[in-house]
Amino acid sequence: MQHRVIVLGAGYTGAIAAGRLAKRLHREDVAITLVNAEPDFVERVRMHQLAVGRDLKPRPFSEMFAGTGVELKLAKVTGVDVDRRTVAVMDGNGAEELEYDTLVYSLGSGWNAQGVPGTAEHAHEIASRPGALRLRERLGRLEAGQTVTVVGGGLTGLEAATEIAEARPDLDVALAARGDLGDWLSPKGRGHLRKVFDKLGITVHEHADITGVEADRVTTADGKAIPAAVTVWTTGFAVHPIAKATALEVTGAGQIVVDGTMRSVSHPDVYAVGDAAYAMGPGDKPLRMSCASGTPAAWQAADAIAARLTGGKLPNMPIRYFQQCISLGRKEGVIQYVTADDRAVRAALTGQLAAVYKELICKGAAWGVANPTLGLPTRRRRVARERATAGSAVKTLA
Ligand SMILES: Cc1cc2nc3c(=O)[nH]c(=O)nc-3n(C[C@H](O)[C@H](O)[C@H](O)COP(=O)(O)OP(=O)(O)OC[C@H]3O[C@@H](n4cnc5c(N)ncnc54)[C@H](O)[C@@H]3O)c2cc1C
Repeated sequence: MQHRVIVLGAGYTGAIAAGRLAKRLHREDVAITLVNAEPDFVERVRMHQLAVGRDLKPRPFSEMFAGTGVELKLAKVTGVDVDRRTVAVMDGNGAEELEYDTLVYSLGSGWNAQGVPGTAEHAHEIASRPGALRLRERLGRLEAGQTVTVVGGGLTGLEAATEIAEARPDLDVALAARGDLGDWLSPKGRGHLRKVFDKLGITVHEHADITGVEADRVTTADGKAIPAAVTVWTTGFAVHPIAKATALEVTGAGQIVVDGTMRSVSHPDVYAVGDAAYAMGPGDKPLRMSCASGTPAAWQAADAIAARLTGGKLPNMPIRYFQQCISLGRKEGVIQYVTADDRAVRAALTGQLAAVYKELICKGAAWGVANPTLGLPTRRRRVARERATAGSAVKTLA
């Protein structure tokens, strides 16, 4: 009998974890199943590009995982029972239950409307492909001079506002931020950001706390109205409710609380990575929802699972930040160098070189997912063949 590893979600982190597990463990000992709702990989970091009409390279999982030993299951996850160690899924053939010995939970996140009235009815989101495609269709119907207001001055908001303004110079693009524009960046990064926003003619509403969205405007806490034929809502991400409905220890927001090996602190046969996980990073700060920390977290989880199954050494790689890569349209960007715990330092790369650098980062991230077992030395270790008392074929070590 094989040890059954199920990976839920084939986004950046789930796909990477599944590929790395396949490289680390012997195929005869372990069955790795990767469950995803969609048949192809979605490059979430390019959703603002998709929204303005750019087409993304198709990346079918059937090609990406061919010959890797990872079995693909195209189905929607509807629930997890961590006491019975089962996952409920639904596909074209109906409902099914999958049993696991080890679970990797990497279902990612979606947009976070934060309960602001009118968002569900009127706002657009770019955290998902359906959301980006809906915005694309809506932008296509806008006439010259109409307003697009992006709410949220974080990384996604900056990228969305500049991408839209560059692709549609005929539109009147605005950005509403809670603080000052790019206030967490270094003076150089901030200065460049402002220059690009000015060049692209983006109106910036600073210290704007948006508390309502209507069909043609957003309203602020202090009673101002900002015109918005289209509102793009980018105020952070929210995790899917599946984990919160389990017996797993989760945060108030529903992220699974994990230790340094990405293992659930309440259920040792469950690991969580990416946006779905709540893991402490440097400076005792939780890792931010990003590929930047999600990718090394996925490596860490896969290596920890392999080590525990084979009796190897547990990985102990501290996950740290190096830079924040911000595209500002296709021709401009800011690479803000940061401390290990993600605070801006003085140095920043700006301009066209930064845009090229960011593009290389996006390409590299997609390459890592599209070639899940390439570029990684094969070290397929045998699983310790100690019989488990119930359910699983092998007993995990440590
Ligand atoms: C516009 C935009 C720009 C960004 N730019 C950057 C950036 O420059 N740098 C950076 O580090 N981060 C960036 N991010 C954040 C980054 O995209 C996320 O942090 C990252 O995608 C998280 O990876 P993940 O594997 O946790 O989740 P995801 O990539 O979201 O993958 C989750 C997977 O689970 C699947 N799934 C979800 N629910 C179910 C279900 N019920 N059943 C089956 N399958 C399901 C999804 O289809 C998906 O394949 C950006 C995000 C956006 C939206």
